[in-house]
Amino acid sequence: MPHGRETESRKLLGRLRDALAEEGDGQQRLDKVTKLIATSMQSEVCSIYLFRDPETLELCATEGLNAGAVHQTRMKLGEGLVGRVAKTSKTVNTADAPNERGFRFMPETGEEIYSSFLGIPIQRLGEKLGVLVVQSKASRLFSSDELYALEVVAMVLAEMTELGAFLGEGEALSARHKQPVLLRGTTAQEGTAQGHVWLHEPRVVVTNVIAEDPETETQRLREAVDTLRVSVDKLLAGAAGGDGEQLQVLEAYRMFANSKGWMRRMEEDINNGLSAEAAVEKEQTQARTRMGQVSDAYLRERLHDLDDLSNRLLRILTGQGRETGADLPADPVLVARNIGPGELLEYGRSLRGIVLEEGSVGSHAAIIARALAIPLVVHAENVTREALNGDHIMVDGDQGIVHLRPDDTVAAAFRDKMAMQADAQERYSAIRDKPATTACGTTIELCMNAGLMADLPSLESSGASGVGLFRTELQFLVRNQMPKRSELSALYSRVLDAASNKRVVFRTLDIGSDKVLTYMKPNDEPNPAMGWRAIRVGLDKPGVMRMQLQALLRAAAGRSLTVMFPFVAQYSEYVAAKAEMEKALERERRLGHPMPSKLEIGAMLETPSLAFAPQAFFDEVEFLSIGGNDLKQFFFAADRENERVRRRYDTLSIPFLSFLQGIVARCEASGTPLSFCGEDAGRPIEAACFAAIGLRTLSMRPASIGPVKHLLRRVDLGKLREIIEECHEKGEQNVRAPVAAYLKTVAR
Ligand code: PEP
Ligand code: MG
Repeated sequence: MPHGRETESRKLLGRLRDALAEEGDGQQRLDKVTKLIATSMQSEVCSIYLFRDPETLELCATEGLNAGAVHQTRMKLGEGLVGRVAKTSKTVNTADAPNERGFRFMPETGEEIYSSFLGIPIQRLGEKLGVLVVQSKASRLFSSDELYALEVVAMVLAEMTELGAFLGEGEALSARHKQPVLLRGTTAQEGTAQGHVWLHEPRVVVTNVIAEDPETETQRLREAVDTLRVSVDKLLAGAAGGDGEQLQVLEAYRMFANSKGWMRRMEEDINNGLSAEAAVEKEQTQARTRMGQVSDAYLRERLHDLDDLSNRLLRILTGQGRETGADLPADPVLVARNIGPGELLEYGRSLRGIVLEEGSVGSHAAIIARALAIPLVVHAENVTREALNGDHIMVDGDQGIVHLRPDDTVAAAFRDKMAMQADAQERYSAIRDKPATTACGTTIELCMNAGLMADLPSLESSGASGVGLFRTELQFLVRNQMPKRSELSALYSRVLDAASNKRVVFRTLDIGSDKVLTYMKPNDEPNPAMGWRAIRVGLDKPGVMRMQLQALLRAAAGRSLTVMFPFVAQYSEYVAAKAEMEKALERERRLGHPMPSKLEIGAMLETPSLAFAPQAFFDEVEFLSIGGNDLKQFFFAADRENERVRRRYDTLSIPFLSFLQGIVARCEASGTPLSFCGEDAGRPIEAACFAAIGLRTLSMRPASIGPVKHLLRRVDLGKLREIIEECHEKGEQNVRAPVAAYLKTVAR
């Protein structure tokens, strides 16, 4: 590194710091900065453009261009050279700007006389904030030293912008983190919520960007990196003996933590006048920019690791940890890039809503959010950058929309929607203890789906007649190691206690597909949803299933017990699973444990093949529950996790309804009790149609019981059957429209 560059850059930063420390408002500061840079770089022009909205840049300060153009000249992202720098996040350095691709001069600025142009993106951690430009009459390329110095200045400007140092007149200077923002994501849990932002990982704020003494800063950086390495080594030691994947990730972490290149670049930045934390952030910004540009998934993951490490390092350096001591705001809405199930459970029911930048509908966090009935929107791009702790936020989990700092009109409309929902909720609680008996006198049993202890209070509050599906894998998913038999048995026992004498259908482990245990060896399967999952794992490697069956028998301790096997695709699988239960019973008997007073063993019907199983299966199985989520994905060959295809096929299409009718008919013929426990059971229109085709038990999320019961109590199933049959005869594809039209006439 040329020595001259070091000192030049440092001198410039020193002057910049002095200028920024002086009294003055945001505009005055910006003006000073442009003047100072122009003088230091010996160029006639220095200008700063900032974003006034994500698509438009505004000239906010200039030395050299017409002063009248400030806050007047604007350009779109990608427009002209400045727009190009902003769009690509890449520097443009040219000796002959007018002949450069995309050049477009703005007459009001008077810039046509300048030949050379150097534009540098102002960005912070991948977030585009603006463009710093220097121009001069002489036709010359700016040297790499000048370029470096200006890059560092741009970073300081980014940091100062983040700190609000330039807030002032003009939209671009007043806009940041103040204007309303609407973010569109994906619904992972319905419901609406309003409250205040709580950032799971608060933004680390670097207040001391420029430092005087490189030696002290280098020392601080080295000490922090040492601490970081020790913590990564500790993580590794803790994971030793664990599964390979986790170890690999941590090894990669350690490799980065010990990377000489990373260290050298940061020390260079410090030598050029940055503080230790600013140096870390500069590298992090560059890694994030690269992250947006590489398409290779492996490389992106590694850059992600580097990003995480930088965050850790910044926390060490600034002392700003997750435990900032701040209290949760009133009505907290959690905002995070992503969150693990354990962390989410720690927040528990205190949260009003959750907004994630990443995540997915089937992620563990989503499963927990659903269990806790907290509205959740995932894939809300940029939310962690846009939101500040305490910001007013409204989450529309029904539409997958997030309003950040909403204006009065939006807030009022949103409140109306919430009030309507609250009214409806009141109507639902009024019928909580009434049966779901239709207008024509048929009673439908409504049960709830559960999986966590946290779900059980809903048994009382929702009016559910029992737990129609207890997803036992959730207990495995929220831990980071395999639970012990005694732990499971204690837990199941508590579930049975909480349910008092209501029936609980325990579904044995449904692991695989989207439900991956971090502590189990990952399977590299080309199509996990159709792969080695659920009962297939249970039968091939029966150790865990046996342990679970024992835990269930012990938990029952003489009470009645209901167990259901997931993903049974053929009769023989049910026979084999039942044989495992018999073996477990025999063993428990021998050990002197009490036998359940009543034991029911059933299966989930979630593969089309099972609907065509031999009569013997229907005669033998004690009950069946249709897992519509899986059944539908295999019926239509449409991935339930893939937003693109998921909504393409309607549950209320004639082919699917006919298929369900066939299952109902077989169960009626054999006298096999049948229920439906997929998500569709909780959708009122679907639930009414299921009742019309003969289903008598539906199991759903607790929050759906009210709306479903409310509608069922008004419908005439005979009328609905007529509508469905008519559609059939007419050769329609789908019954939704005429069914909805009829339901409108009865609903209020
Ligand atoms: C289903 O497939 O419908 C079901 C209830 O099981 P899960 O959603 O847990 O796969
Ligand atoms: Mg399923």
